[in-house]
Amino acid sequence: MSKTLFEKIVAHEIPANIVYEDDSVMAIRDINPQAPTHILIFPKRPLPRIAEATAEDGKILGYILLKAGEVADKAGLTKNGYRLVINNGPNGGETVPHLHVHILGGRHMKWPPG
Ligand code: AMP
Repeated sequence: MSKTLFEKIVAHEIPANIVYEDDSVMAIRDINPQAPTHILIFPKRPLPRIAEATAEDGKILGYILLKAGEVADKAGLTKNGYRLVINNGPNGGETVPHLHVHILGGRHMKWPPG
């Protein structure tokens, strides 16, 4: 099976602006930022999307959210707040089939989202 874009970034086959990395997850700057701060955090082991997650993925999903909060804090977003987004499938706006959480901050987010 071919590697996902984020697997290629994890393997350093494609360059990225890495802001956090450990054994389980990586966080990078989004190449097309939708806010002054736009970071993506994803598991190194690919899981296509939330719709395909199983009970076995519960640990990594929880870990990603905890790390997203830490990465957002290190990026200076805690005081004014930020938004976490997971796009799932076509109507959700998913373009990369490797689960990732968008960390968006540095401006006021609108609701409902576009
Ligand atoms: P999604 O549409 O939720 O699947 O999000 C995919 C995100 O990946 C988009 O926000 C893209 O701008 C971002 N993206 C695509 N290619 C790259 C890349 N090479 N480096 C960093 N971010 C990327």
